[in-house]
Formats: sequence, structure tokens, C-alpha cells
Amino acid sequence: MKLGIGTFGVSLLGGLAGILFGAWCVSLLFVLDALDRRQAETGARHLQVQLSQLEQRHHQWLQSQYYLLTSLIETAGAEHDFHPLMLEYYRRNPEIWAVNLVRFDADGKPVSRANKPGCRQPQRLRRDDIAEFLEPALLACRVGDKALLEIAGPANVDDRPALLLVSVDYFGFLDEFTAVTGRRLQRIFADGGELRFEEIDTGGDAAGRIRLVLGNRDGVDAEVLVAHRAPGFGEVFGGHLVWLALSLTLALLVATALLYRGLITPLERLAEAMREFAGAERGADGGQLRPGLERLFDYLGKLQQTTKRDPVTGLNNRIIFEDRLAQAILEGKRSGRLYALLLVDLRGVDEVAQHQGQYIADTLLRLAAEYLRLSLRESDNLARFERNLFALLIEFDDRDQLGTLVEKIYLTLARPYQVHGREFDLGALIGVAIYPDHALAADDLYQHASEALALAELGDWPIRYFREADETDTSGFSLIQALRRALKRDELKLVYQPVVDLVSHETVYFEALLRWKDPARQELSIERTIRLAERNHLIKPLTNWIIDAACRFIRDCGIFNLRVGINLSMIDLHDRQLPMRIETCLSKYQVKPSQVVIEITEGQIMQDPDEVIEVLAHLGVMGLSLSIDDFGTGQATLTYLKELPVEKLKIDQSFVRDIDTNPDDQLIVRATIELAHTLDLKVVAEGAETLAVCELLAEMQCDYAQGYYLCRPLEAERVADWHASSVKPDLFRKGR
Ligand code: C2E
Ligand code: MG
Ligand code: MG
Repeated sequence: MKLGIGTFGVSLLGGLAGILFGAWCVSLLFVLDALDRRQAETGARHLQVQLSQLEQRHHQWLQSQYYLLTSLIETAGAEHDFHPLMLEYYRRNPEIWAVNLVRFDADGKPVSRANKPGCRQPQRLRRDDIAEFLEPALLACRVGDKALLEIAGPANVDDRPALLLVSVDYFGFLDEFTAVTGRRLQRIFADGGELRFEEIDTGGDAAGRIRLVLGNRDGVDAEVLVAHRAPGFGEVFGGHLVWLALSLTLALLVATALLYRGLITPLERLAEAMREFAGAERGADGGQLRPGLERLFDYLGKLQQTTKRDPVTGLNNRIIFEDRLAQAILEGKRSGRLYALLLVDLRGVDEVAQHQGQYIADTLLRLAAEYLRLSLRESDNLARFERNLFALLIEFDDRDQLGTLVEKIYLTLARPYQVHGREFDLGALIGVAIYPDHALAADDLYQHASEALALAELGDWPIRYFREADETDTSGFSLIQALRRALKRDELKLVYQPVVDLVSHETVYFEALLRWKDPARQELSIERTIRLAERNHLIKPLTNWIIDAACRFIRDCGIFNLRVGINLSMIDLHDRQLPMRIETCLSKYQVKPSQVVIEITEGQIMQDPDEVIEVLAHLGVMGLSLSIDDFGTGQATLTYLKELPVEKLKIDQSFVRDIDTNPDDQLIVRATIELAHTLDLKVVAEGAETLAVCELLAEMQCDYAQGYYLCRPLEAERVADWHASSVKPDLFRKGR
């Protein structure tokens, strides 16, 4: 009985333990299953993110390839499919499996042209496809047994619409995926229109799978199925729980052995097989299809730069141009061809941008680009480097013919431009360097062309060739350097030339004239120095220095109510800050505005009267008096003279110098004096070099005179003496 009870009890207990163990196992299975699911879901999400990031990057990469190729094909032209530039491109991009350019004949039939040597040509496109792919689109498709990731989009070759297809092997994408995620994929192709890729081990739950559906084309569905390679807890232990119940130790060992034999070894074999398969699929030396993401992103960054065209003009950018220049030089070395590199600086656009806005300036740049394009042959290269700088690479046979062509280009640009009913006059400067005459390397050629351009800027002629530049005097350069230094080191000075009243013989004001302190530079024309300063952005600091020095002189020279005339340059008159700068100086030295006479030339006003009037009116309101310099040379209209707060007209010395001998000049001066008086203006005659001229001027009722007969420009320290002695009624009679 005992035994029976015992046996029963043991059986009962054993049964209960078995039930409990079973329940425990079941609940453990549930727990493991729940864990599995959670892990699978998280893994799936993670995988999904990785996949879509990868896909996005691929998309970007393909898109940048597409843009680069479109621009390369367009520039190479349809007839030069295997242009050296493109061959180089393919060499550097082994990932590109095929490039096809589909154009359409007059009947709309597709004429497909492989744009990569040896690549296949799809025949499956219709004319409607162009409309379909107005924007580049990413597709997956299959050509034969190839799985492709493909980008299709419009191109424009010889002004005719075309469709460009860029394809990469889809396996490349999968390999990258493996590289990034550490997961391996198995690829299975199905016949009959469907193309599938599946993962190695789909033993896990479907929740762990990702399905990546790609674009559908020609009825081909393409999808990738991916699952976790790492098995979940339940998967590992669940199948071996029975063994655990019999013998925990043995079960563990057996489970491990089984796990190893049943799962890992086959997986390794499978992986090995896949590696072999992948190697065979890509060919012996094509095993490097996977570029590695790091390289890819790096490359992508560079490509994005490379692919950018100049957004304003649509011309090639500098990178493409430099590439073509290098190619041209290679070609030149091989075939003995001659090339000219032209750097063209379009003048006046900055001023337009400043005064009329960037939109008009951009329109002018586009027009100029179009004019340049029309004046070149198709095979010549044209690019916009930056702002107003264009580069042209021209192939030529005969040097005389080149000269004519360069002049034609200059004339094409330097002309009036019509924009929105307004007319703009632009100029151009051109620097030319010739291969092989001036340089044998692209860099040197560029350097020489830019030196020639710099000389064109300093000289009188807008076109400069490097050889010419080499031989010419480069003092323009050194003058600018010296002027920069002079401003810093106080190597400049002002001299003062009196303007004298012809009746009272009193000095009305002293005109401040710029000079170098260095006697060696005294001979240099100050007008040239000013012109160079204007062109090299030095005029603003120079004028600041002049205003400061003149005001300081007024304060320090000890003459009561001394008036000083300051010459301004055209560029100063466009500076709306100028009145404020003058005001600051006046208060710094406690000078009254009425002690400053501003001289501006007639030509300066007439270049842009509306702009200038605003600044001059401001100066007039401040109480400064204005004098129109070199009157008679700039065709000022009376309308403007009336609008301006002008006090004096200075008749240009070219009319005054010979009035005693030249009746025409005499007539002009007399008429100008009468005109000025009618307008209530005082008249100054410049260039009074002789007593006879002074007397004649006085007789003509000219108000004031300035000239070597009366006084040459004086050093600052001599002004006070001269002022004291000049107040004499018999000034002219005494001679000097
Ligand atoms: P401007 O303002 O018409 O100055 C008169 C020029 O004529 C001065 O030449 C002066 O020395 C010269 N001159 C005066 N009387 C006679 C004469 O009887 N006969 C002859 N042949 N010449 C005479 P300079 O100093 O060489 O200046 C030339 C021009 O350079 C000036 O013409 C002015 O436009 C510009 N300039 C001179 N100093 C400055 C300056 O500080 N700032 C600016 N923006 N321009 C200046
Ligand atoms: Mg003057
Ligand atoms: Mg003058």
C-alpha cells in the first residue's frame, strides 16, 4: 500500500512536477516568443531605417551621376560619345554598369545609343518616356538576368530632347547593405517576369522580415526580402527544451552541438558558397563592386561640387572647364593643335548690381554669356569662373585669325545691352595666353592669361596678350603697391594752389592737389595715380586720407576762415556714406562746412547724374560749396546744372590757355562766362599761364582765375606766406 501510495505519490508528484514543468516550459515559451517578437520588431524597424537611408543615399548618388553625365554628354556633344573626358569618367566609376542615351527620330522612334563602351542598350523606351521622366526618377528593373538600380531622366543633346538612363548593378547595393548592417542576403532570381531577392535564413518569424519594394517597370516586380540573421531566444532554446528536461547538462551540450551542426556550419557553407557565387558573378577583377560607404559619401561630396553648373548663366563651371583645358593640352601635345585661353572680365556689372539690383545684373550676365556662346564655335569651351569673369578656350590655326576673333569677342561684349526697356553700357577686358607659345601646362597658361588681364586693366587697351604683357612696363602694378604702402606709411602729401579773385586779387580758396612725398615719384602723373586707385578699390581710403589731411591743414595753418578745395573722384560720388565721412572730419578738426569747396568734374556728373545729384545735394545742404571742374569737356546739360547746388564753374584749362591767340577759344570762354552768369554762377578760369591771359579774363568779366602765372601749387608750409602777400591790387601788373 505504502509502496502503492508511494508509487502513486511519486507518480502524482512526478505528474504534478511534469505538469508544472510543462506549464513552466509553455510559459517560458510564451515569454521567449514575446521577447522574440519584440526583438524582431525592433530589429525590423532598425533594418527598415538602414535600408531607407541606404536607398536614399543611392538615390542621391545616382542623381549626381545623372547630372554629371548629362552635362558631360551635352558638352561632349552627341557625336563624341566616347569622348576622352567621358572615358575617364567611366574609368573612375566602375560602379556605373550602363549609360544609355535614347533619342527619337522624326517619327518618334527611339534611337538608343550606348554612351558607355560595351554596355547594353535597352529597347524598351517610348517617346512618352521623356514626358514621364521630366525629373530624374529612381527605378529598379531587370535587363536579361541583371538586376539594376536605374535612374532615368531628360537630357538635352543638340537642342533635342533625349532620355538618359544610368544603371548600376543592384548587387552593388545589396553588398553595401551587407557591409553596413552586417547581415547577409541571398539572392534568388525567379523567371517569368518576377525578380526576387531573399535572405539566407527565413526560419524566424515573418515579423522580422523587411520587404523593400522598388519601382515597377515593364511589369517587372522587384523586391528585397530581408530577415534577421541572428536567431531569437526562443529559436535557440525552444527546440531543445525536451533535452533540457532529460538532462540539463547533456541537453546543453547536445543543444550546443546541434546548434553548431544544424545552424552555424550550414550557414558558413552557405556564406562561403555565396562569396564564391558573388565572385563568379562579378568576374575575377570586378570583385570590388562594393565601394564602401565611406568612399561613397566622400565621393558624393566631391561629385556634388563637380556637377554644379553655373546657376546664373547655365555655362560650365570652373571645374569642368579646367578638366577640358587639361584635356585640350593633352590633345595639343599629341596633335600639335593651338589653343588660346581667354579670361574675360565683364566691366560694369557690379555697378549695375549696386544701383539697379542683382536681378538686372544677373540678366546682363546671362545676355553676355549668350553673346559669347554665339560668337564661339561649338567645339570651343566657355565657362563662368566667378562674378564677372568668363573663361574661353579657343582652338585656332592661324595667329592673325585669332587676333580678329578676340577683337570680335570684345566687340560682342562691349556694347549697349537692352534689359527690360533700359539700356546698359558694359565694357570688357580680355587677357589672352596661347598654348604652346606662352605655356605648356594648364596652370601656367591660366596664370599668364590672368596676368595679361591684370595688365589690360591697368593699360589703355582692353585686350592684352601675355607675350605683350611680358614685354611691357609693369609699373602699373608697382604703382598700386606703392600707393597702398604710401597710405599706410604717410608717404603722400597735399599741395595747395590758390584760386584768385580777378577784381580784388584776393585768394578765394586754395585747391588741394595730391602729391607723392618721394621726389622720385613726383614725376608720375597724379591723374594716372587717381585712375589706378579708382580701378583697384583704393579710392575710398585715398579720399578719406585727402579729406582728413585738408581739414587738418585748415585747422593748423593759422589763416582765418581759410577755404580749401577738395577734388573728389567719380566713385566717391556714388558713396552714400561720403557726406557722413566729411561731416565726421569737419567736426574732428572743428572746420566749418563753408570752408570746404568740393570740386567734381563735369564728366563725373554726366556719367550718372541722378545718382550723383543725391550725394551732391546732401553736401550742399550740409553747407559745402560745389565747383564744377574741367567745365566744357563733359557736355553737362543746363538742366543738371540748375538742379545741383553749384556755386562755381571752372572752365577747363584747355580752353583758357591760349585765349589771347586763339579766337575760337576766346569765343568759347566768353560764352561760358555769360552762360554761368545767367545761371548766377561764379566762373573760375583754370590754366592762366600768362599775364595776357589774366588780363583778358578780367576784361571778359571772369570772376576768378587759377594758373601757373598766378601761382604754382604751394607746399603746405608756404601757403600762409603767400596768402599774406597775395592781397595786393597790382598782382598782375607786378608779374611773378
Ligand atoms: P584739376 O582738379 O583740374 O587740377 C588742376 C590741375 O591743373 C592740377 O594738376 C594743377 O597742377 C594743374 N594746373 C594748375 N594751373 C596750371 C597751369 O597754369 N597750367 C597747367 N598746364 N596746369 C595747371 P595736377 O595736380 O597734376 O592734377 C591733375 C588732376 O588730378 C586734377 O585736375 C584732378 O582732377 C586730379 N587730382 C589732383 N589731386 C587730386 C585729389 O586730391 N583727389 C582727386 N580725386 N583728384 C585729384
Ligand atoms: Mg580740381
Ligand atoms: Mg581742372
